[in-house]
Amino acid sequence: MKIARYRNGTGSMLGRVVGKQIFPLAGINDVQALIADWPKAASLPVDQRAAVPLADAKLLAPIMPRRNIFCVGWNYLPHFNESIGKREGQEVDLPDRPTFFTKLPTTVAGPYDDLPLHQAHTARLDWEVELAVVIGKQGRDIHPDHALEYVFGYTVANDISARDLQRAHGGQWFKGKSLDGTCPLGPIITTADELQDPQNLALSCRVNGQTMQDSHTRWQIFDVSRVITELSAGLTLLPGDIILTGTPDGIGNARNPPIYLRDGDTLESCVDGIGCMRNVMRANL
Ligand code: MG
Repeated sequence: MKIARYRNGTGSMLGRVVGKQIFPLAGINDVQALIADWPKAASLPVDQRAAVPLADAKLLAPIMPRRNIFCVGWNYLPHFNESIGKREGQEVDLPDRPTFFTKLPTTVAGPYDDLPLHQAHTARLDWEVELAVVIGKQGRDIHPDHALEYVFGYTVANDISARDLQRAHGGQWFKGKSLDGTCPLGPIITTADELQDPQNLALSCRVNGQTMQDSHTRWQIFDVSRVITELSAGLTLLPGDIILTGTPDGIGNARNPPIYLRDGDTLESCVDGIGCMRNVMRANL
């Protein structure tokens, strides 16, 4: 099932995407509520007469997280290697367990929103396309053999990162990863029953039409099951939690010379089986 959240007057609606149309889900307008009632909600009736053409709908981030978004750093070997010598005081050996950090809920933006450049605070805003996992049920100390049973679905994220703020604040990642509007999500959630193998997905990022990242989730160092197992060790995952599973190589900061996002740049972020977001960077937001 493909789920979209879209603007409806001053509020939002949830709908099931079939082909090029969205069919509103009767009586439910919040993915958190849908997850709470899953899988019963999968059989919710759709209103055939109220279908909205996908092209006409103003799509919103498909889910608004209730707490920080969990993120994995350095989860593709070519990305870890491209940044050697460029981590500015953070040089480490390749970790044998996932590296975790978080982004604030206020980073979330829609899949086609304009995004702020934050030029007053950073000159090095960079892209990171990622597969994002939406957790479907509460769990702690989750065994890897059962980890995917805790997944409600998947969406696309871009973990937009202020590289200079990562360095300027003592080498931590939180500040440089948590500026407002630096986590577009969408365009939809594809539920786990439809997308059964998260390690078989191509993902890519284009800036102004030029491919900057072009990889595949089979190259993840820690697969989605392992990430869930490690993150949930002694830490309760809740329904509606979001986990960004890391970005592949091709970030701007690792290029020679480096490239950073500029006013008017178009940022496209795509994952197989889910779709593409398209955001424009704006200096005046
Ligand atoms: Mg990232």
